[in-house]
Amino acid sequence: MNKEQLKKEQPVVYQTLSNALKRDHLAHAYLFVGPKGSPKNEMAVLLAQSLVCHHTDSDGFACQECDVCQRIRKEEAIDFKWIHGDKNRIKKKDILDLQSFFEATSVEIENRRIYFLEQFDQATPDASNSLLKFLEEPRPGIFAIISADEKSNVLPTIQSRCQWIQFRPASKQRFITMLEEMTDTESAKMLAQFGYTMEQAKEILAWPDFDLIKDSAKKYTMNWDDLSMILSMQREVFVAKSEHMQKEKIRFWLECVLYYTKENKKGISLSKQIHIQEILIEGMDMLRRPIELALFLDKLYNQIRKVVIS
Ligand SMILES: [Zn+2]
Repeated sequence: MNKEQLKKEQPVVYQTLSNALKRDHLAHAYLFVGPKGSPKNEMAVLLAQSLVCHHTDSDGFACQECDVCQRIRKEEAIDFKWIHGDKNRIKKKDILDLQSFFEATSVEIENRRIYFLEQFDQATPDASNSLLKFLEEPRPGIFAIISADEKSNVLPTIQSRCQWIQFRPASKQRFITMLEEMTDTESAKMLAQFGYTMEQAKEILAWPDFDLIKDSAKKYTMNWDDLSMILSMQREVFVAKSEHMQKEKIRFWLECVLYYTKENKKGISLSKQIHIQEILIEGMDMLRRPIELALFLDKLYNQIRKVVIS
Protein backbone atom coordinates (compact mmCIF):
# COMPACT_ATOMS: atom_id res chain seq x y z
CA MET A 1 0.00 0.00 0.00
CA ASN A 2 1.59 3.28 -1.07
CA LYS A 3 1.16 6.65 0.61
CA GLU A 4 -1.60 7.78 -1.75
CA GLN A 5 -3.69 4.76 -0.75
CA LEU A 6 -2.91 5.36 2.92
CA LYS A 7 -4.03 8.97 2.56
CA LYS A 8 -7.34 7.80 1.11
CA GLU A 9 -7.78 4.90 3.52
CA GLN A 10 -6.77 6.67 6.75
CA PRO A 11 -7.15 10.44 6.20
CA VAL A 12 -7.05 11.39 9.89
CA VAL A 13 -3.94 9.34 10.66
CA TYR A 14 -2.29 10.66 7.51
CA GLN A 15 -3.05 14.27 8.41
CA THR A 16 -1.89 13.92 12.03
CA LEU A 17 1.44 12.41 11.02
CA SER A 18 1.84 14.85 8.15
CA ASN A 19 1.47 17.81 10.55
CA ALA A 20 4.03 16.31 12.93
CA LEU A 21 6.51 15.59 10.11
CA LYS A 22 6.17 18.99 8.46
CA ARG A 23 6.68 20.83 11.73
CA ASP A 24 9.31 18.33 12.86
CA HIS A 25 7.25 18.00 15.98
CA LEU A 26 7.51 14.28 16.55
CA ALA A 27 6.69 12.21 19.59
CA HIS A 28 9.43 9.78 20.56
CA ALA A 29 6.86 6.99 20.77
CA TYR A 30 3.71 6.33 18.79
CA LEU A 31 0.99 3.86 19.67
CA PHE A 32 -0.93 2.80 16.55
CA VAL A 33 -4.28 1.34 17.55
CA GLY A 34 -6.83 -0.13 15.15
CA PRO A 35 -8.70 -3.32 14.32
CA LYS A 36 -7.05 -6.15 12.43
CA GLY A 37 -6.82 -5.36 8.75
CA SER A 38 -6.28 -1.64 9.27
CA PRO A 39 -2.96 -0.65 7.66
CA LYS A 40 -0.91 -0.11 10.83
CA ASN A 41 2.14 -1.96 9.48
CA GLU A 42 2.13 -0.02 6.22
CA MET A 43 1.84 3.26 8.09
CA ALA A 44 4.64 2.25 10.47
CA VAL A 45 6.94 1.62 7.50
CA LEU A 46 5.95 4.93 5.90
CA LEU A 47 6.59 6.82 9.13
CA ALA A 48 9.98 5.14 9.56
CA GLN A 49 10.87 6.00 5.95
CA SER A 50 9.69 9.57 6.43
CA LEU A 51 11.97 10.01 9.43
CA VAL A 52 15.07 9.28 7.35
CA CYS A 53 14.28 9.93 3.66
CA HIS A 54 15.98 12.96 2.06
CA HIS A 55 13.31 13.37 -0.59
CA THR A 56 10.19 14.07 1.44
CA ASP A 57 7.08 15.40 -0.30
CA SER A 58 5.06 18.51 0.54
CA ASP A 59 3.11 16.51 3.18
CA GLY A 60 6.36 15.62 4.92
CA PHE A 61 6.25 11.96 3.90
CA ALA A 62 9.04 9.87 2.40
CA CYS A 63 9.45 9.39 -1.35
CA GLN A 64 9.17 5.59 -0.85
CA GLU A 65 11.49 5.12 -3.83
CA CYS A 66 15.01 6.13 -2.88
CA ASP A 67 17.62 3.70 -1.64
CA VAL A 68 17.01 4.54 2.01
CA CYS A 69 13.24 4.03 1.66
CA GLN A 70 13.72 0.73 -0.14
CA ARG A 71 16.06 -0.57 2.53
CA ILE A 72 13.54 0.26 5.23
CA ARG A 73 10.75 -1.43 3.31
CA LYS A 74 12.85 -4.58 2.88
CA GLU A 75 13.86 -4.39 6.55
CA GLU A 76 17.51 -4.19 5.51
CA ALA A 77 18.27 -0.82 7.09
CA ILE A 78 20.39 -1.11 10.18
CA ASP A 79 18.50 1.72 11.85
CA PHE A 80 15.05 0.26 11.48
CA LYS A 81 14.06 -2.78 13.51
CA TRP A 82 10.69 -4.41 13.11
CA ILE A 83 9.79 -6.98 15.76
CA HIS A 84 7.07 -9.10 14.21
CA GLY A 85 4.64 -9.84 17.00
CA ASP A 86 1.86 -11.23 14.83
CA LYS A 87 2.96 -14.87 15.02
CA ASN A 88 5.00 -15.01 18.23
CA ARG A 89 4.23 -12.88 21.25
CA ILE A 90 6.88 -10.26 21.86
CA LYS A 91 8.97 -11.36 24.85
CA LYS A 92 11.28 -9.67 27.31
CA LYS A 93 14.28 -11.00 25.36
CA ASP A 94 13.11 -9.25 22.19
CA ILE A 95 13.07 -5.91 23.99
CA LEU A 96 16.45 -6.48 25.64
CA ASP A 97 17.98 -7.54 22.30
CA LEU A 98 16.57 -4.42 20.73
CA GLN A 99 18.07 -2.23 23.43
CA SER A 100 21.51 -3.76 23.14
CA PHE A 101 21.28 -3.63 19.34
CA PHE A 102 20.68 0.10 19.44
CA GLU A 103 23.45 0.56 21.95
CA ALA A 104 25.96 -1.50 19.98
CA THR A 105 25.30 -0.29 16.44
CA SER A 106 26.51 2.95 15.04
CA VAL A 107 24.09 5.47 13.73
CA GLU A 108 23.69 4.99 10.02
CA ILE A 109 21.08 7.43 8.86
CA GLU A 110 20.61 11.00 10.00
CA ASN A 111 21.00 10.19 13.67
CA ARG A 112 17.55 8.65 13.68
CA ARG A 113 16.73 5.10 14.59
CA ILE A 114 13.31 3.56 14.67
CA TYR A 115 11.93 0.39 16.13
CA PHE A 116 8.50 -1.03 15.42
CA LEU A 117 6.85 -3.41 17.86
CA GLU A 118 3.99 -5.03 16.02
CA GLN A 119 0.94 -6.38 17.86
CA PHE A 120 2.24 -5.33 21.24
CA ASP A 121 -1.14 -6.05 22.85
CA GLN A 122 -0.11 -9.71 22.70
CA ALA A 123 3.30 -9.15 24.32
CA THR A 124 4.19 -10.88 27.57
CA PRO A 125 3.94 -8.85 30.84
CA ASP A 126 7.75 -9.05 31.18
CA ALA A 127 8.15 -7.55 27.72
CA SER A 128 5.81 -4.72 28.70
CA ASN A 129 7.84 -3.97 31.81
CA SER A 130 11.10 -3.95 29.86
CA LEU A 131 9.63 -1.69 27.22
CA LEU A 132 8.37 0.66 29.89
CA LYS A 133 11.92 1.09 31.21
CA PHE A 134 13.11 1.72 27.66
CA LEU A 135 10.43 4.35 27.11
CA GLU A 136 11.05 6.03 30.45
CA GLU A 137 14.52 7.03 29.34
CA PRO A 138 13.95 8.37 25.85
CA ARG A 139 17.15 8.90 23.90
CA PRO A 140 17.33 11.57 21.25
CA GLY A 141 16.94 10.20 17.76
CA ILE A 142 15.30 6.93 18.79
CA PHE A 143 11.68 6.59 17.79
CA ALA A 144 9.27 3.86 18.85
CA ILE A 145 6.22 2.73 16.92
CA ILE A 146 4.04 0.28 18.81
CA SER A 147 0.95 -1.28 17.29
CA ALA A 148 -2.04 -2.90 18.95
CA ASP A 149 -5.51 -4.03 17.93
CA GLU A 150 -6.89 -3.03 21.33
CA LYS A 151 -5.60 -0.08 23.28
CA SER A 152 -6.90 -1.51 26.55
CA ASN A 153 -4.50 -4.46 26.26
CA VAL A 154 -1.48 -2.15 26.44
CA LEU A 155 -0.24 -1.13 29.92
CA PRO A 156 -1.65 2.31 30.83
CA THR A 157 1.87 3.40 31.81
CA ILE A 158 3.03 2.58 28.26
CA GLN A 159 -0.01 4.29 26.73
CA SER A 160 0.73 7.48 28.64
CA ARG A 161 4.26 7.61 27.25
CA CYS A 162 3.12 7.34 23.65
CA GLN A 163 1.19 9.50 21.27
CA TRP A 164 -1.91 7.52 20.49
CA ILE A 165 -2.94 7.28 16.81
CA GLN A 166 -6.32 5.65 16.15
CA PHE A 167 -6.85 3.82 12.85
CA ARG A 168 -10.30 3.22 11.44
CA PRO A 169 -11.35 -0.25 10.25
CA ALA A 170 -10.24 -1.30 6.79
CA SER A 171 -12.58 -0.32 3.97
CA LYS A 172 -14.55 -3.05 2.21
CA GLN A 173 -12.32 -2.76 -0.85
CA ARG A 174 -9.18 -3.21 1.23
CA PHE A 175 -10.79 -6.15 3.02
CA ILE A 176 -11.42 -7.76 -0.39
CA THR A 177 -7.87 -7.04 -1.56
CA MET A 178 -6.43 -8.66 1.57
CA LEU A 179 -8.65 -11.73 1.21
CA GLU A 180 -7.72 -12.03 -2.46
CA GLU A 181 -4.22 -12.94 -1.30
CA MET A 182 -5.75 -16.04 0.29
CA THR A 183 -8.57 -16.97 -2.05
CA ASP A 184 -10.30 -16.21 -5.35
CA THR A 185 -12.01 -12.89 -6.03
CA GLU A 186 -15.52 -14.28 -5.80
CA SER A 187 -14.99 -15.82 -2.35
CA ALA A 188 -13.28 -12.63 -1.16
CA LYS A 189 -16.22 -10.53 -2.32
CA MET A 190 -18.71 -12.87 -0.71
CA LEU A 191 -16.97 -12.88 2.67
CA ALA A 192 -16.72 -9.08 2.61
CA GLN A 193 -20.39 -8.80 1.75
CA PHE A 194 -21.44 -11.18 4.53
CA GLY A 195 -19.84 -8.84 7.07
CA TYR A 196 -17.32 -11.22 8.61
CA THR A 197 -14.28 -9.83 10.39
CA MET A 198 -10.85 -10.62 8.95
CA GLU A 199 -10.29 -13.25 11.64
CA GLN A 200 -13.63 -14.94 10.99
CA ALA A 201 -13.05 -14.84 7.23
CA LYS A 202 -9.65 -16.51 7.66
CA GLU A 203 -11.20 -19.23 9.81
CA ILE A 204 -13.92 -19.90 7.24
CA LEU A 205 -11.39 -20.03 4.40
CA ALA A 206 -9.47 -22.62 6.38
CA TRP A 207 -12.45 -24.99 6.60
CA PRO A 208 -11.62 -28.16 4.67
CA ASP A 209 -15.19 -28.13 3.32
CA PHE A 210 -15.20 -24.44 2.35
CA ASP A 211 -15.32 -25.16 -1.41
CA LEU A 212 -17.81 -27.98 -0.98
CA ILE A 213 -20.25 -25.75 0.88
CA LYS A 214 -19.83 -22.77 -1.41
CA ASP A 215 -20.04 -24.82 -4.63
CA SER A 216 -23.06 -26.75 -3.39
CA ALA A 217 -24.84 -23.42 -2.76
CA LYS A 218 -24.09 -22.36 -6.31
CA LYS A 219 -25.31 -25.65 -7.82
CA TYR A 220 -28.36 -25.54 -5.61
CA THR A 221 -29.44 -22.09 -6.86
CA MET A 222 -29.15 -23.31 -10.43
CA ASN A 223 -31.33 -26.38 -9.90
CA TRP A 224 -33.47 -25.77 -6.91
CA ASP A 225 -36.71 -26.97 -8.43
CA ASP A 226 -35.00 -30.30 -9.00
CA LEU A 227 -35.79 -32.86 -6.30
CA SER A 228 -32.56 -34.73 -7.00
CA MET A 229 -30.69 -31.56 -6.02
CA ILE A 230 -32.30 -31.68 -2.60
CA LEU A 231 -31.43 -35.36 -2.31
CA SER A 232 -27.81 -34.69 -3.18
CA MET A 233 -27.68 -31.91 -0.56
CA GLN A 234 -28.99 -34.40 2.00
CA ARG A 235 -26.69 -37.22 0.94
CA GLU A 236 -23.48 -35.43 -0.02
CA VAL A 237 -23.26 -32.16 1.87
CA PHE A 238 -25.37 -31.74 4.97
CA VAL A 239 -25.48 -35.38 5.91
CA ALA A 240 -26.88 -35.90 9.41
CA LYS A 241 -24.08 -35.95 12.03
CA SER A 242 -21.36 -35.19 9.42
CA GLU A 243 -18.66 -32.58 10.07
CA HIS A 244 -20.46 -30.22 7.68
CA MET A 245 -23.60 -30.27 9.80
CA GLN A 246 -22.71 -27.34 12.03
CA LYS A 247 -24.59 -24.14 12.62
CA GLU A 248 -21.87 -21.80 11.39
CA LYS A 249 -21.44 -23.88 8.22
CA ILE A 250 -25.17 -23.91 7.52
CA ARG A 251 -25.29 -20.17 8.15
CA PHE A 252 -22.45 -19.68 5.66
CA TRP A 253 -24.25 -21.92 3.16
CA LEU A 254 -27.44 -19.82 3.54
CA GLU A 255 -25.39 -16.67 2.93
CA CYS A 256 -23.90 -18.23 -0.20
CA VAL A 257 -27.36 -19.22 -1.43
CA LEU A 258 -28.54 -15.66 -0.83
CA TYR A 259 -25.54 -14.35 -2.77
CA TYR A 260 -26.13 -16.68 -5.72
CA THR A 261 -29.88 -15.97 -5.73
CA LYS A 262 -28.97 -12.39 -6.55
CA GLU A 263 -26.27 -13.46 -9.04
CA ASN A 264 -28.11 -16.17 -11.01
CA LYS A 265 -31.40 -14.53 -11.68
CA LYS A 266 -32.28 -16.61 -14.72
CA GLY A 267 -35.66 -18.25 -14.80
CA ILE A 268 -36.98 -16.81 -11.56
CA SER A 269 -39.23 -13.79 -11.32
CA LEU A 270 -38.36 -10.90 -9.08
CA SER A 271 -41.23 -11.62 -6.70
CA LYS A 272 -40.05 -15.22 -6.30
CA GLN A 273 -36.49 -14.05 -5.70
CA ILE A 274 -37.69 -11.73 -2.95
CA HIS A 275 -39.75 -14.51 -1.42
CA ILE A 276 -36.73 -16.84 -1.41
CA GLN A 277 -34.55 -14.15 0.12
CA GLU A 278 -37.10 -13.76 2.91
CA ILE A 279 -37.02 -17.49 3.58
CA LEU A 280 -33.21 -17.44 3.73
CA ILE A 281 -33.04 -14.45 6.06
CA GLU A 282 -35.65 -15.98 8.32
CA GLY A 283 -33.59 -19.19 8.26
CA MET A 284 -30.48 -17.34 9.42
CA ASP A 285 -32.50 -15.90 12.24
CA MET A 286 -33.79 -19.36 13.25
CA LEU A 287 -30.19 -20.61 13.42
CA ARG A 288 -29.66 -18.42 16.47
CA ARG A 289 -32.05 -20.64 18.40
CA PRO A 290 -31.55 -24.25 19.44
CA ILE A 291 -32.94 -26.27 16.54
CA GLU A 292 -32.61 -29.69 14.99
CA LEU A 293 -30.42 -28.93 11.99
CA ALA A 294 -31.40 -31.74 9.59
CA LEU A 295 -35.08 -30.99 10.11
CA PHE A 296 -34.48 -27.29 9.69
CA LEU A 297 -32.73 -27.84 6.35
CA ASP A 298 -35.42 -30.21 5.02
CA LYS A 299 -38.05 -27.65 5.79
CA LEU A 300 -36.03 -24.91 4.13
CA TYR A 301 -35.38 -26.89 0.90
CA ASN A 302 -39.11 -27.62 0.65
CA GLN A 303 -40.19 -24.07 1.35
CA ILE A 304 -37.88 -22.78 -1.37
CA ARG A 305 -38.91 -25.48 -3.83
CA LYS A 306 -42.56 -24.59 -3.32
CA VAL A 307 -41.83 -20.96 -4.19
CA VAL A 308 -39.81 -21.91 -7.28
CA ILE A 309 -42.41 -24.27 -8.78
CA SER A 310 -45.47 -22.23 -7.81
ZN1 LIG B 1 13.00 8.15 0.14
